[in-house]
Amino acid sequence: MDMGIHLVSNTGSHERFSTFNPATGEPLGHYPLFSSTRVSAAVASAREGQAWWSRLPQRRRSAVLRRVAQLLCNERDSLAQIITSESGKPLQEALLHDVLVSADAAVFCADNAAAVLRREKIPHKNPGLRFKRGELSWEPFGVIGIISPWNYPLSIPAADTFAALAVGNAVVLKPSELTPRPALELEHLIGAALEAEGLSALPSPFQVVTGLGPTGQSLVSSSIDKLIFTGSVATGRRVAVSAAAQLLPVILELGGKDAMVVLEDADLDVASSAAVWGSMMNTGQTCVSVERCYVHRSIYSRFVSRCLEKISKLKVGNGAVSTTDVGPLINLAQLQKVSRQVDEARALGAIVHAGGNPLPDLGPNFYAPTLITDVDHSMSLMSEETFGPVLPVMPFSDDDEAISLANDSDFGLAASVWGRPSHAKAVARRVAAGTVMVNDLISGFGISAAPHGGLKQSGIGRTHGILGMRELVRPCYLDVDFTSRVKKLWWYPYAENLASMSAFVEMIHSSGLRRVVAAFRSLPAFFHRRY
Ligand code: NAD
Repeated sequence: MDMGIHLVSNTGSHERFSTFNPATGEPLGHYPLFSSTRVSAAVASAREGQAWWSRLPQRRRSAVLRRVAQLLCNERDSLAQIITSESGKPLQEALLHDVLVSADAAVFCADNAAAVLRREKIPHKNPGLRFKRGELSWEPFGVIGIISPWNYPLSIPAADTFAALAVGNAVVLKPSELTPRPALELEHLIGAALEAEGLSALPSPFQVVTGLGPTGQSLVSSSIDKLIFTGSVATGRRVAVSAAAQLLPVILELGGKDAMVVLEDADLDVASSAAVWGSMMNTGQTCVSVERCYVHRSIYSRFVSRCLEKISKLKVGNGAVSTTDVGPLINLAQLQKVSRQVDEARALGAIVHAGGNPLPDLGPNFYAPTLITDVDHSMSLMSEETFGPVLPVMPFSDDDEAISLANDSDFGLAASVWGRPSHAKAVARRVAAGTVMVNDLISGFGISAAPHGGLKQSGIGRTHGILGMRELVRPCYLDVDFTSRVKKLWWYPYAENLASMSAFVEMIHSSGLRRVVAAFRSLPAFFHRRY
């Protein structure tokens, strides 16, 4: 209940849960709570779908994905409205960061699947095995389970789904209970694309299971072949423990505490706008949001003034209104977490220049865009993920100090460095994060070709890009021996074979006359009568 979830009494054979608009609190819809039996049935259907889907020629799978991209584009405005109503984000963000990123991902996966699946020759120089030819092929795992969060309710599950489908896997997706509808819309669009390609009579390789944590847990414990989990560190850890018990391979995309480093040669106007947008977009609820901003002392007070000026112009309200810049937080639990961190920092001596309070007059989950200074790393605001519209700014004296502050975190998802490009690039190379951007932020997540993922508590593995697709295929080494009528020298019996095999080893690893003599001494092995 405290997460804004209400269970609805049984109206048929299955229990349901409800979703709510975070801007208004109004109920939006009811969705089935999938039991473990229904999750297993969905995995079984997906496996049936995978059997035919993986045997389709690659160009046909890519054609389906290209059609999905087109359908996403056609439905962009209605999808953006659905996303805004469930997640609270402004319509422009839903359109660009969910719908456009998803359509781009579909095309990228369609374009690159053949390269990911391309077979490779594995040459070798072993003289005892010279009549063999080795080849590496990349095979789909089978059924990929995807568990996704609410903050990018379309683009996160869609990008992972397209990567998995493109290389011949099936997918069972468990979307967040706070924002299930975009996943169901995706299921509908994939169904329409399959139909348009003449593939609709077959069981679908894409299934959605709705529900709360226990439904996710059922998916982890089902017979899936690999899991992509995106969500909080706490849940990620629980998922990793369950997966370890089954030796289920997992990719974990977890939280962040991203640093923004503003060097003395940065453009003050651009960097302050970036800091405001990077910390406030999606109401700060982005895994790659700016959560800590470090600014060179020589420009620190001017930077803070510029940020203050820009934050005071932000329009906070319902994301469905086209003039809104900053929407509500997702729910009351998130509002309380943000308030707790800001209040604690204030009690420890931090100065709040703007915001620092909820805005109950606007609706249940609004928090004012907040600018806060005089912070340090002893405060939870600077060490734990905040996920709210808060920009904490701290000064530094030189590059070494900036780098050590940026790296002083349990997280390592993304970071940005601002300044003269060569200077900023040199600093960026020393920042420990999965993505480090120079003179930009967050947009790396929208580049389909760019791998996404983090270090430390930010997770394990990569999604997006070729590296993300490679995570969804397993290598298979195929060895073909052309001496099909010859028994191997090292087979039974061993009796009377040892001396010649010893000479054989010497022949391989010696040279000159010694090698010739060893070759001669190994000859009996070739005439040995084998069982
Ligand atoms: P969450 O961990 O609460 O939930 C994520 C998903 O896990 C939901 O679908 C939920 O139902 C499911 N779940 C809950 N308990 C489960 C269990 N025991 N077993 C299996 N599944 C379970 O996270 P959230 O609040 O939805 O998302 C916000 C978090 O996600 C933030 O920490 C954010 O940084 C992180 N995130 C990370 C990335 C990234 O790419 N690294 C991207 C977006 C969000």
